[in-house]
Amino acid sequence: MIVNTLIKTIDQEKIKCMGYNFCETLSPRHWFQFADDSALVTSTVQDSQLLLNVFTKWCTWANLIVRIDKCKTFGMKKNGNTTSQFLPYLRINDEMIPPVEMHESFNYLGKIFSFKMGVETIKKDITERFNCYIEKLNMLPMHPKNKLLVISKFVYSKIRWEFSIYNFGVTWVTQNLDSIIKEYVKRWLHLPQSANFSHLYLPVKQLGLKFSLPSDIFKNSQLTTRNILKNSKSNDITEIHKSTQYKHIAEESLLTKTNTIRPRDGLKNETIEQISRSLGQLKEQNIILKMIQQHCLSSSIVEWQRVVDKLPENLFVFIRKALIFCLPNNSNLARWKKSVDSACGLCKTNTQTQLHILNNCQSSVISGRYTWRHNSVLTTLCNYLTQLPEFTLFADIPGYQNPSIFFKRYRPDIVIINCRKMIILELTICFETNLEKSRNYKKEKYHDLEDDCIDERWDIEKVFIEVSSLGFVTKNIKELKSIIKDHNTYKRLVNKMTETAIRASFYIYTKRNKLWDEPSLLNFI
Ligand SMILES: [Zn+2]
Repeated sequence: MIVNTLIKTIDQEKIKCMGYNFCETLSPRHWFQFADDSALVTSTVQDSQLLLNVFTKWCTWANLIVRIDKCKTFGMKKNGNTTSQFLPYLRINDEMIPPVEMHESFNYLGKIFSFKMGVETIKKDITERFNCYIEKLNMLPMHPKNKLLVISKFVYSKIRWEFSIYNFGVTWVTQNLDSIIKEYVKRWLHLPQSANFSHLYLPVKQLGLKFSLPSDIFKNSQLTTRNILKNSKSNDITEIHKSTQYKHIAEESLLTKTNTIRPRDGLKNETIEQISRSLGQLKEQNIILKMIQQHCLSSSIVEWQRVVDKLPENLFVFIRKALIFCLPNNSNLARWKKSVDSACGLCKTNTQTQLHILNNCQSSVISGRYTWRHNSVLTTLCNYLTQLPEFTLFADIPGYQNPSIFFKRYRPDIVIINCRKMIILELTICFETNLEKSRNYKKEKYHDLEDDCIDERWDIEKVFIEVSSLGFVTKNIKELKSIIKDHNTYKRLVNKMTETAIRASFYIYTKRNKLWDEPSLLNFI
């Protein structure tokens, strides 16, 4: 407060002539004050001494002690076309303030200043600190999802300040810090070296994990700094902004073009577009992500991720790998040159791809693996449908009356009846790329179901439910919602069907080269 009074006093129009502030006949002077930290910037040593004298007197009057050992002076002068550093001779109470030695740096408000203003030392320090955090995190026995969370919430907060005040250049951050993160993420998610996992940076509704790379944080921090400078109320600061615009073309373009949305959102959209574009070029790896976004509601994908987040590490990792076809099945192992035989361990005839293991192997069909998964999800569905008091339930699994009693030849998965109303529910577990095909097949199969009824009095409604091998439910699930009605029960049911499908597919996957041990049905409530 005392220093503020001093600055306001010497800034008054009537005492400008005393030379305490800028006027036409004197060189510009700046006094920067942040809490109890002062910085004087003047064009000559004499001007600095003039301000220091009044500052010293003011402090003596206010009974404040200036700690000379905590002060520094730094000098730069121009000789013709060259500028060089010098050691200024400045005093407080006849005692010389120690100058910053030649080629040395000083710290003001957390930023390092030196004659060359080089950032090499800071880069080295930040890389070492970053490595240290990630290495420590790597050693912790934590779920990979939590490791990513610690990076986003903790590690990035530790480097955000440097990212805001130093311009390291995006290329440096990408090459030196992004590369560290990418390496560890691959390790934690057990992904092969060749894997492209850029979808992790997408929002959850686009099947990502909303994870950012250091270069994203850097771009964001620089943009925030530029935005603050641009919108500052101080003319001096806006002058600095204007004179440095040419060094920040990317940020400036975002600040000027995003009139309708916040600059940070503009940057986020730009990053998402860039990733989506690059993923679009990966036709094979991108196919599940594309199909799911086409057939499932965004809200369903967000719910699906909530379920996956609660699963143990092995299942979480399985899902993340399966989404981009990076499971170590025989086909991939042969492609990665880790094995010579790409054939299925069960039927020995087809190539062991993800689709083959999870949905297409004839040996698995015969041993009942897919029926086991189907009936496990069906059991979960029945657990919830039995809670509806207005309906009587029939299901094609042990423990329930069989729906076949209503038909001559058909045997739908579930029948629920209420007075003359009969609802047929048919469940399909299929591969992510076959969601539409499977639905059309079922629709066709049950086309003339009405004609197959033993009794003709029924008012029939057919509901087809598709759950993918990785637990996604399609947009058609809304038909089930109209039966369940209670939102919370419906949400719990869908989440449990997702979990059952994932757990069952994972078990089928782990048994891909082994005999089937006929486990009992998974039963979730
Ligand atoms: Zn097979």
